[in-house]
Amino acid sequence: MTVRMRTGQAAPGIDAAAAGGTVARDMAFLAPDAVAAALAVDPATGLDSGEVRARAARWGPNALRARPPVPAWRRLLAQFADPLVLLLIVAAAVSAGLWLREAAAEGQSGLPFESLAILAIVLLNAAIGTIQEARAAQAVAALRRMSAARARVIRNGTRQEIPAAELVPGDVIRIEEGDAIPADARLVRASALLTNEAALTGESVPVPKGAHPEDALPKDALPKDALPKDALPKDALPKDALPKDALLLDRRAGGETDPAEPRTMVFSGTTVSAGLGLAIVTATGMRTELGRIAGLLEETTDEVTPLQTELARLGRRLGLAVLAIAGVLAVTIVLADHIRTLPALLDTLILAVALAVAAVPEGLPAIVTAALSLGMLRMARRRAIVRHLAAVETLGSADVIASDKTGTLTRNVMTVRTVVTASGRSTPGGPPAGPDGPLRSELRQALLAGALANDAVLQEREGGVAIQGDPTEGALLVAARTAGLGAEARRFVRLAEIPFSSERRRMSTLLRETGGPSCLVAVKGAPDVVLARSSRERVGGRDRPLTPERRDAILAANAALAGDGLRTLGLAHRAVPEGEATAPDDRIEQDLVFLGLAGMSDPPRPEAREAVARARAAGIRSVMITGDHPRTAAAIAAELGIASDGTALTGAQIDAMAPGALDEAVRRVSVYARVAPAHKLQIVRALQRNGLVVAMTGDGVNDAPALKAAEIGIAMGVTGTDVSREAADIVLADDNFATIVAAVEEGRAIFANIRKVLRYLLSSNLGEVATMALGVVLAPLLGLAAGPGEVVLPLLATQILWINFVTDGAPALALAVDPVDPAVMKRPPRPRGEGVLTGAMAWSLSFIGIVTAACSLFVFDACLPGGLVAGSGTLAYAQTMTFTTLVLCQLFNVFNARSAEASAADGLFKNRWLWGSIVLSLLLQVAVVYTPVLQQGFSTVALSPGDWLFCAGVASAVLILEELRKAVVRARRAAAPGA
Ligand code: ATP
Repeated sequence: MTVRMRTGQAAPGIDAAAAGGTVARDMAFLAPDAVAAALAVDPATGLDSGEVRARAARWGPNALRARPPVPAWRRLLAQFADPLVLLLIVAAAVSAGLWLREAAAEGQSGLPFESLAILAIVLLNAAIGTIQEARAAQAVAALRRMSAARARVIRNGTRQEIPAAELVPGDVIRIEEGDAIPADARLVRASALLTNEAALTGESVPVPKGAHPEDALPKDALPKDALPKDALPKDALPKDALPKDALLLDRRAGGETDPAEPRTMVFSGTTVSAGLGLAIVTATGMRTELGRIAGLLEETTDEVTPLQTELARLGRRLGLAVLAIAGVLAVTIVLADHIRTLPALLDTLILAVALAVAAVPEGLPAIVTAALSLGMLRMARRRAIVRHLAAVETLGSADVIASDKTGTLTRNVMTVRTVVTASGRSTPGGPPAGPDGPLRSELRQALLAGALANDAVLQEREGGVAIQGDPTEGALLVAARTAGLGAEARRFVRLAEIPFSSERRRMSTLLRETGGPSCLVAVKGAPDVVLARSSRERVGGRDRPLTPERRDAILAANAALAGDGLRTLGLAHRAVPEGEATAPDDRIEQDLVFLGLAGMSDPPRPEAREAVARARAAGIRSVMITGDHPRTAAAIAAELGIASDGTALTGAQIDAMAPGALDEAVRRVSVYARVAPAHKLQIVRALQRNGLVVAMTGDGVNDAPALKAAEIGIAMGVTGTDVSREAADIVLADDNFATIVAAVEEGRAIFANIRKVLRYLLSSNLGEVATMALGVVLAPLLGLAAGPGEVVLPLLATQILWINFVTDGAPALALAVDPVDPAVMKRPPRPRGEGVLTGAMAWSLSFIGIVTAACSLFVFDACLPGGLVAGSGTLAYAQTMTFTTLVLCQLFNVFNARSAEASAADGLFKNRWLWGSIVLSLLLQVAVVYTPVLQQGFSTVALSPGDWLFCAGVASAVLILEELRKAVVRARRAAAPGA
C-alpha cells in the first residue's frame, strides 16, 4: 500500500477524524488500509518530521487540560486562615484605631508603631509561608514533568520513543503489554491484544482487540456487506447499518455492552493487559474519549502524608496547650495589674495572642512540606523519582528491599556465551565448530529460531550495533548475526506472533519462508517450558524423538549453565503446513522440535554489591526475586553478597507449601527463582505478616498488585511498563538497585531533618512560652516584680512576634535542608509506628526550653533597675537585653537541634545555609536594636558591645548544657551492655 503524503496538507479524513465525533467512530469499521489512507499515513514508515510539525501546529499537544494553578494572591490569603492570626490582626487594628483616636484627642502626632510592627510581621510571615509553599509546589511539578508519559512511535521510518504529549493525529504507535495507551487510536495490527478499559468504563475485565472490523464486532451484529474489507470511501459506509451513536464507550452509560463496540479502537487512558499492536492515532488531547468524559480535568490533588497528618495533630494539641497558658497569663496580668481600661485590656489580649501565635509552630507544616519536596528533588538527582510524597517517609523505615534480578541487580547487558545442542557445546563467535559437522548445523538452526522468535531490532551505529528492544532478544540477534545468519533470517516473513509474558515464559512467531514450501513456528522461552512442549530434537540435519533420558540430559545441561550464573533459554521450531497456519494460539506451540539451549551472561552491576553491603549495614535485608532458573539466581546472589548458601526458593515450591509455611520461609530465604508475578504478591504479604516494611520492585503489568501491596512499590523507569509505574510510589530512572539504597538514605535523611526542625522549633517555642509564663506567674517568687500588685513583662508582644519571625524562619528552613549525615545508614530502620516525636525527644526539648527560660529571666532580673547589671536602669533596657538573650539562645539552639546525641561540633560547617541563616538572624537583631524606626516599633534601646557579650555569654548555656547532656547519653550508651 502506498500513501502519498503532502506535508502540511491533511487528507480529507484527518480533520474530521482528529476532531473526534462520528467520523472518528467510522474509523472503527474501516479496513486498516482505509484508515491509513484517511489519516494520510503509511503505517510502515509513519509520519515524517514536516508532517508532524504541521499537525502539531494544527492540533496542539496531546494533553488534557490541566486545572488552572491557584493564583498567588489566593495562596497568600490562605495564610491568614488561622483564627489566632486573624484575632491578632483584628486586635492590632483595633489597638491602632484607639491609639489614633487618643492621639487626636490629645493633639499628638505620630504613628502607632507597635500595632504597625505587629501587622508588618504578620504580613511578612504570610509572605514567607507563601514562598515556601510555592517552592514545594515547584519541586512537585518538576517531578511530575520527569515522570511524564512516553509513547513509542514510528516516524520517518524508524522506531522512536517520544513524550506522549508530542503525539499528533496520524502518528503510528506501537503498544505492548503494560503500556498506557497515549491517545485514541485505530489498530492496524494486533496480536493477542487485550486492553483494560476500567479507567473509562469501570469494567475491569480485559477487552480483546483486533485490527479488522470483523474482529471488532461479534459476527452477527451487522450484515456482512456492511463491513467492506478493502479500502472504501467514507460515504460508502452504509450509515444506517451502523448504530453509530451507540458506539464506543457507551457501557459507562447503562452497563450493557453495546454489540457494535469497536474492538478495533484503543483509547487514551486505558492500558494494555497483554499482547501487542500497531495503531494509528485518531484523536489526541481533549478530543479523545477520555478528554470528552465531562471534560475531565487532570487530577492535581495535594497529597497529605501520614507525617503531615501527625504533625497537624501535634500542632493542634500544642495550640490548645499554648492557648490555655496564654489565657492564664492574660487573666493573671489583668487581675494582678487591676487592668480596667479598654486599651489596657486590648494590650493584654494582644500580648496573650502574640504569645500563642509565636508558640504554635505554625510554620511547621510548610517547612515539612518543603523538606519532603526538596528531598524528593534530591532523590530525583540521585535518579529515584518519587511519585507519592508519603513514600519519602516510609522509605526510612524499610526493612526489606525485594528486587528483581535482571536489569536491577544485573546490568541487563546480555551476551550469548554458550549454545548447547544435541551434539555438544559451541560458542557463538568462537572458533568454528568444525567445517560442516552436525554441531555447526545445530548451532545455526538454534540461533536462527532465536533470531526469528524475536522482537528486538539491531541498529547499525558507528563502532558497533545498538539493540532496540529486550536485551535477551537482542543478544540472540547479535549471536545470529555473528554466525552469519542475517540473510537467512530475512527470508522469513512474519505472519503472526504470540508475545512473551512472565506467565507464559515463552514467545513464538509464525513465519512464511519466501519461496519455501511451508510455514515455520519459531519458539524461544524458559528451557523447561520449551522442552515440555517438544516431542523431538534436532540432531545434525535430522529430527529424532526425545527420549526421557535425553530430556533429563537437557535439563542437566540447563542446570549446569545456570550454575555458572548464565541466563538460559530453550529454542525450538516446527514446520507447519501452509493450510494449518491460522491465527496463532498456543496450539501451534505443541509438538516442537527442540533445537538447543542458549546460555547468556548478564553480569551483576558493579555498584550493586556495594549497595547490598550498605543496605545490610543499615539493617536492611536485600532479597532477590527473579523469573530465572534457581541456579542462575543463586549464583548471582552469591556474587552480590545477598545469600551464600547457593539455594533458592522456587515458585513451584511456594505453591506446594502448607498455609503459613511461607511466613516462616521468608524469614530466612533471600533468593526466589522461577517465580510468577503472583508469587511476588505472596512474598510481600508474608514479609508484612512478619511485621516488616517492604520495598519491592517490579516492571511487568502483572507486578502492579505486588507494587501496590508493598509499603514502597518501586518501578523501572527504563524497562518497566507504564502500568507498573502507575502502581509504584517510586520510579528508578536508571533501573538500578543502588539507586534504591540511595533513596532509602535520602528518605532517612529527610526524616532526620524533619526531626531536627521539630526539635528546634518546639524547644525554641517552649523557651519563649516558659520565659513569659514563668516571668509573669512566678514574678513575685523570682523577685521580678517591680512592686506589689505590679506585673513586669519580660518581653513585649511585638518582641515575641519578632523572635518567632527571626528564629522560626530561616534557621528552621536551613535545618530542613541539612546535608545527609552518613551515620543514618549505620542505624537500623526506624521502627514502624514510631511517631515523629519520641519520648526522649520530648524530654530533651523540654530541658532546652527550661534552660532558655532560665537564661532569659536571669538576664531580665539582672538588668532591671537595681539589678546585677547597672546598664541604663530602665525597663526598656531590661526588656531589650532579655529579648536579645532569647534570640541568641535560639541561635545557639540551632546547633543543638542537628542531632539528638552527636555533639554539635560534628559536621559543624557542613551546612552553609545554616550559617547564612544565623548571620541573617543576627543582622536582623542588630537592626531591631539600633534602627530608630524599629526601636519605636519594638520598644528597644541601643545596647553596648559589653551588653551583647553578656547576653551571648548567658545564652551559650543552652548549647553548653545540652552538649553535656548529650555527652552523658553517649557515655551511658557506650557503657551499656552489648554496645
Ligand atoms: P526478573 O524478575 O529478575 O526481571 P527475569 O526477567 O529473568 O527476572 P522473566 O522476564 O519473567 O524474568 O523471565 C523468565 C524466564 O523466561 C527467563 O529465565 C527466560 O528463560 C525466559 N525469557 C525471558 N525473556 C524472554 C523472551 N523475551 N522470550 C522468551 N523467553 C524469555
